[in-house]
Amino acid sequence: MMTQTSVHRLAMLPYGMLNAFLLVRQGRALLVDTGLPGARPRIERALRGQGLGWADVALTVLTHAHIDHAGSAAQVQRHTNAPLILHRDELAYAQGAKPLLRPSGPFGWLFHKTGAIERPFEPVTPDRLMTTDTLDLADYGFPALLVHTPGHTPGSVSVVLEGGG
Ligand SMILES: [Zn+2]
Repeated sequence: MMTQTSVHRLAMLPYGMLNAFLLVRQGRALLVDTGLPGARPRIERALRGQGLGWADVALTVLTHAHIDHAGSAAQVQRHTNAPLILHRDELAYAQGAKPLLRPSGPFGWLFHKTGAIERPFEPVTPDRLMTTDTLDLADYGFPALLVHTPGHTPGSVSVVLEGGG
């Protein structure tokens, strides 16, 4: 049987407003986003739910550097030995620059309206900057590509699994 990558959604807020994702393959985890500040225990529970711990995280990807995706990134980085990847066009925002926001849905508009998106969060320095349009994640044990998908923010990226998911 082919080894599959399982995808686990971590609801960070109710009603699907905000998610992070945990990809698991052969006992290793790829964390996609880290949620708001304070989300570390939520991520730890998700890892434990798969029989894994922080040491099993092979890679952390930040899709972009808004507070609701990168707010716990520095904490997560301290708890893993895994490299954290961010696109270079997001670097300034990960390190405290005032965020840009092009809301892509009702939640975005709400965040924009309340100013919640502009709250500062603990700055994070990525271990690896993505400087290309695509990055093969096979080196980290996952048959997947990281693809630069600017729009929501200049350095937004998406994870594309083999098979297109
Ligand atoms: Zn965003």
